[in-house]
Amino acid sequence: MARVTGSVTEGVICMTYIIAQPCISEKDASCVDVCPVDCIYEGEDQFYIHPEECIDCGACVPECPVEAIFPDDEVPDQWTEFIAKNYVYFDVPAP
Ligand code: SF4
Ligand code: SF4
Repeated sequence: MARVTGSVTEGVICMTYIIAQPCISEKDASCVDVCPVDCIYEGEDQFYIHPEECIDCGACVPECPVEAIFPDDEVPDQWTEFIAKNYVYFDVPAP
């Protein structure tokens, strides 16, 4: 049985946290400072969370001043495109 974490378990990526629209133009990097595994990377227009490195601890969520970070199954409907964008950024296939 695969555990529900952001790591690769039995070849299946189960979950990660996703950074959505509000990060664009904000990019203040507060989340980067608290991530215990340094899996938040700066992209051109926003930051991204590496889906294979994120351990699902949730520490980054309350640090974001614009509430841009969500568990991948709780991303608001208007921002679900950011899930695919996140996987594409790291060239990791979406689950
Ligand atoms: S949930 Fe935890 S491990 Fe994942 S990006 Fe946020 S702080 Fe880092
Ligand atoms: S704290 Fe929020 S706005 Fe700042 S870089 Fe992280 S996700 Fe983007």
